[in-house]
Amino acid sequence: MFDQPDLEQLPCTGLAGLDGFTLRGNTEVTGIAQDETGARVEMTDRGTDARETIHAEHVLGCDGANSLTRTAIGATLADLKFDRRWLVVDIATTADLGQWEGVHQVCDARRAATYMRFGKTRYRWESRLLPGETGDDFHSLDRLYPLIAPWTKDIPAGDLEIVRGSRSSDRNRRPVHSTTATALSAGSIHTRRRRSTSNPVA
Ligand SMILES: Cc1cc2nc3c(=O)[nH]c(=O)nc-3n(C[C@H](O)[C@H](O)[C@H](O)COP(=O)(O)OP(=O)(O)OC[C@H]3O[C@@H](n4cnc5c(N)ncnc54)[C@H](O)[C@@H]3O)c2cc1C
Repeated sequence: MFDQPDLEQLPCTGLAGLDGFTLRGNTEVTGIAQDETGARVEMTDRGTDARETIHAEHVLGCDGANSLTRTAIGATLADLKFDRRWLVVDIATTADLGQWEGVHQVCDARRAATYMRFGKTRYRWESRLLPGETGDDFHSLDRLYPLIAPWTKDIPAGDLEIVRGSRSSDRNRRPVHSTTATALSAGSIHTRRRRSTSNPVA
């Protein structure tokens, strides 16, 4: 198990030293248009507001659930009618939870849940939100504690730090269109909306 931000840093670090690659951070793609020779990509440097247009033979859109690439190729979304709200919380603690190291899946028809450890001091809980509940209902450890107590047992709340709280909404929708010069990857195909904060949970 590993923490997603650690993984995301790896390709950035690796690509930065490679010949033939230019890594441009803090840059927003604002438009993609295809023609018979490839695609035109418009972008804005968020630091300087400088705009630029480049031509590419191919574009691979890895731009997540709200993919501009997906919109640019005119993909329509087939709604698979699956929409559930989950609370996702990462907690840091040096305390030993003494749990089995695999992924715990709680098959509770009322409130399904997941628990896992990743890294030496990081733990993740995911819990299905019940009708009427929002992420705000679990903004503090006091409110969160009943959900995680089966794992944390007698570890005092003061030894636990919420490092990330999110409300995730699983909306299963798939694009049903693709074109030659532009393609999509991962989250831009399977959409999953996310609100994420460091603390409190929102
Ligand atoms: C709350 C939550 C917890 C999760 N936890 C896990 C987990 O523990 N393990 C796991 O494997 N998966 C987890 N997932 C799923 C995982 O986050 C996604 O499947 C994954 O991040 C999708 O990767 P992606 O590269 O397609 O999109 P993203 O990770 O969303 O990356 C898209 C990138 O494109 C950039 N971008 C978007 N639009 C533009 C634009 N116009 N111009 C320039 N850049 C742009 C964004 O800034 C972002 O950096 C979680 C999801 C949620 C919602």
